[in-house]
Amino acid sequence: MTSAQAVRIEAPGDAGQMKLVELELGEPGPGEIRIRHVACGLNYIDIYHRSGVYPLPMPSGLGMEAAGVIEAVGEGVEHLRVGDRAAYASQPVGAYCTARVMPARCVVRLPDAISFETGAAMMLKGLTAQYLLKKTLPQGGLQHGDHVLFHAAAGGVGLIACNWARALGLQLIGTAGSDEKCALALAAGASHVINYRREDVAARVREITGGRGVKVVYDSVGADTWNASLDSLAPFGLLASFGNASGVVPPVALGTLSAKGSLYVTRPTLFTHLATRESTQAMADELFAVVLGGQVQIRVEQRYPLAEVAQAHRDLEARTTVGSGVLLV
Ligand code: NDP
Repeated sequence: MTSAQAVRIEAPGDAGQMKLVELELGEPGPGEIRIRHVACGLNYIDIYHRSGVYPLPMPSGLGMEAAGVIEAVGEGVEHLRVGDRAAYASQPVGAYCTARVMPARCVVRLPDAISFETGAAMMLKGLTAQYLLKKTLPQGGLQHGDHVLFHAAAGGVGLIACNWARALGLQLIGTAGSDEKCALALAAGASHVINYRREDVAARVREITGGRGVKVVYDSVGADTWNASLDSLAPFGLLASFGNASGVVPPVALGTLSAKGSLYVTRPTLFTHLATRESTQAMADELFAVVLGGQVQIRVEQRYPLAEVAQAHRDLEARTTVGSGVLLV
């Protein structure tokens, strides 16, 4: 038996619900590996899981992203070996721990030139920026120079999206909750920024785009930004609603979409894109290439010991963080 420490919750609740417990881990079964973590990624989805916005069977672990070293390999696993450096973004939840047994199909080898800390910070957030900008597209796709609107542009997913949009030749209009955050998004590649705590987003978007509106809005803020997002779209534009940091979007009257110009709405999740080992590996390879090539930088701006996970959650919820954060094991 191998022991590990893991974050557990008995019921949904506030950050104080999370407790560090000792676990005994068995050997990996067929199709599984055991990984010893060096760093675990912090993501806003962990807040939804902890608070019950996205319900989990209880009691539960938390966390969906980490990097470390493969410690044991189950029968039938061919793409990983004991001693490999590895990283993942995956279901089932449970990445906030020192080690775990999990399905191997979610896990990829981490290139030597990418640190564990960067690996832990980049998988869920980087693969999300990738599927949004490259696979969640309006009719006819996106062309060089097209405008898109990306909310929370100075956050973990946001700063990566700013970098990636610049590399793709897109004009990304980023929103953020302070002038300092706006400056970070601009430096990361946003072509324009809007402080949505004090500016009218849709009016500014019309101004920036010469009245046309944007082809796509990528909206992870949810309830607070929904209306402004719809009002920022050009006819036939696409609203990709991929998160709800400010609250879940209330039910939508479909007629609104016709009245505002034959709009499209999608509610995507990364995990549909990571359904197979092949699709996970292909997406990870593309992410590694842009990180190693320098087009995308992973900015780890917050670091906490695993035991200080409650503070990490409080900081994320208080909107005091920028870029990515990790728990160090
Ligand atoms: P972030 O680092 O972006 O943190 C969330 C940010 O949301 C905050 O920093 C804040 O930025 C903004 N925000 C706006 N309103 C609120 C509010 N009321 N309370 C708290 N935050 C608010 O997190 P991540 O990079 O981890 O994730 C970004 C979003 O993407 C999340 O909503 C997440 O759930 C979603 N996501 C969705 C995925 C999918 O496949 N569907 C996959 C991965 C992430 P500011 O102060 O600038 O407003």
